[in-house]
Amino acid sequence: MKIHKKIILQAKHQINSDAISHNALKVLSRLNEAGYEAYLVGGGVRDLLLGEKPKDFDVATSAKPEEVKRLFRNCRLIGRRFRLAHILYGRDVIEVATFRGPHEGEHSQHAGKNNEGRIIRDNVFGNLEEDAIRRDFTVNALYYNIQDNSIIDFTGGMSDLKHKILRMIGDTEVRYREDPVRMLRAVRFAAKLNFKIEKTAHQLIFEMADLLENIPLARLFDETIKLFQGGYGLRCLHLLREYQLFQLLFPMTEKSHVQSLTMIEQALSNTDKRIATGKSVNPAFFLSVLLWRPMQEFKQQFLAQEQHEMEALLNASREVIIRQQAHLSIPKRFSLMIKEIWHMQPQLQHPTQKRALRTLSNKRFRAAYDFLLLRHSVGESDLEPLCDWWTQIQTKTLSEQEEMCGELAVRGTKKRKRRNRRQKASGSMT
Ligand code: ATP
Ligand code: MG
Repeated sequence: MKIHKKIILQAKHQINSDAISHNALKVLSRLNEAGYEAYLVGGGVRDLLLGEKPKDFDVATSAKPEEVKRLFRNCRLIGRRFRLAHILYGRDVIEVATFRGPHEGEHSQHAGKNNEGRIIRDNVFGNLEEDAIRRDFTVNALYYNIQDNSIIDFTGGMSDLKHKILRMIGDTEVRYREDPVRMLRAVRFAAKLNFKIEKTAHQLIFEMADLLENIPLARLFDETIKLFQGGYGLRCLHLLREYQLFQLLFPMTEKSHVQSLTMIEQALSNTDKRIATGKSVNPAFFLSVLLWRPMQEFKQQFLAQEQHEMEALLNASREVIIRQQAHLSIPKRFSLMIKEIWHMQPQLQHPTQKRALRTLSNKRFRAAYDFLLLRHSVGESDLEPLCDWWTQIQTKTLSEQEEMCGELAVRGTKKRKRRNRRQKASGSMT
């Protein structure tokens, strides 16, 4: 790739500096005033150029992490593999990265690759141009200078942005090898931006996907959440399956995909809509959908071994989560929540007078109820009356709720009587 510095003056691009977060501007100007170079870079610049609202703002600077820390009281240094500064303004975080440089040369002790060529340490500092070529895609390597509102482009990012192309900077094979997660990032950006992945970068995903198996499982979990909870989950799912990457992340789900797919698509479509309207989403809910079918398959096996319904459900939940952990590590707080959502399904399917109000006040009720609705919406067996019942009871006063539960008792007795009669009748015939 030819490196050719291009400066795009304010009049030649559409970024309006008013759209940049106040906090990001504060960080940039403080760094500039202290004599350091500092630019807005990455998704912030890319999304502003596309007329989108950036998710967050990243800053690249010539200041070393310790120097950044000295300038900002509200600064935390994070990361070992890739040391960064986070400047915290309440919940808003501005990520400040020192310019990265090439790994060869005098500071190479701060860099490290393993035998496969994967970067395990990346703390060699460099200048602006060196920083640009260490970034992943050309459209992610555009720098915005708040001092004159110009954009600096070393890698042809402006042209790729115009043509909607995701092009890896440098030798794509080496760059995927250095960090295989870039393949997942390619898919995520293609889905989010509706861009095409450039031909070599596209083809190499099929050839190099297996390298993802060596990525730390916690990082894979983080990337998976970004893929599915970033507002473009449905498109990410389709692309991940097209690139045969989904099977690496969720092999059990892929195997049962014929049955699971509609439910997963429906859940992702709901998630995308929630995010678009600014509502919160919970990763555990989505994971409980992803793993529901595989869990059911284990449950059937346990039932065939004559385990009771609840015992089979508990064992199948445990089994499926243990097996999934081999592919990406699900933090405990989420795996607990996934199990709670599943374990509440029988309570929702068989509400009783004694238990229904307790179920209603369970802290996981909302998620478990949404899960029940989702199962119904994709045609799982005859859940409509139950969904209606749980929808209604939530709108009632306590005494009305107690009345509804009382009716359950009457219905329960009738049902029992009918069953006894049937049993007696069949018994008298034999
Ligand atoms: P978004 O925040 O919208 O998901 P982004 O492009 O800002 O997208 P971040 O993960 O926030 O993505 O990273 C910020 C920038 O850091 C990227 O735009 C890219 O320039 C660089 N970057 C991030 N991860 C990598 C990587 N694995 N390899 C090379 N460069 C990277
Ligand atoms: Mg970003």
